[in-house]
Amino acid sequence: MTQYDPNNIFTKILKGEIPSHKIFEDDHTLAFMDVMPMVDGHCLVIPKRGSRNLLDADPTVLAQVMAAVQKVARAAVKGMGAEGCQIRQYNEQAAGQTVFHLHFHVLPLRTGDSVKPHVGGMADHAVLARHAELIRAAIEG
Ligand code: 5GP
Repeated sequence: MTQYDPNNIFTKILKGEIPSHKIFEDDHTLAFMDVMPMVDGHCLVIPKRGSRNLLDADPTVLAQVMAAVQKVARAAVKGMGAEGCQIRQYNEQAAGQTVFHLHFHVLPLRTGDSVKPHVGGMADHAVLARHAELIRAAIEG
């Protein structure tokens, strides 16, 4: 498998070199809004330690990031007034991965919601900021 390349967009977000609408951060993980949301409230959870995806990740990192995925998923459901959520995760180009730093998609959903195509149009930043605020306010612990 191709080696992890630290020169990716999520590393730049981690370093603060490009802006993002942040939701949650701890020593090991960061969560922020996806700029091309498939649904309202679509956010991403990433580990700070880099790997291309799940296939080359350290299991210790997976345990840390999954705890953050659960925390953010609960907050996204509550904050967005959803009934449930999908967690999506793509590994390698053949499977639809476009950014090669491990990440988990959190999609809060209500019955009947339609999910837009993966990597579609850019959202309005004011809308992303409002959704980030709703989810941040619902983070527990
Ligand atoms: P993947 O296709 O690798 O599973 O998902 C990458 C995700 O990152 C896509 O949903 C895409 O919309 C999102 N994305 C790509 N570039 C940026 C960016 O610069 N900022 C943010 N917040 N999300 C991005």
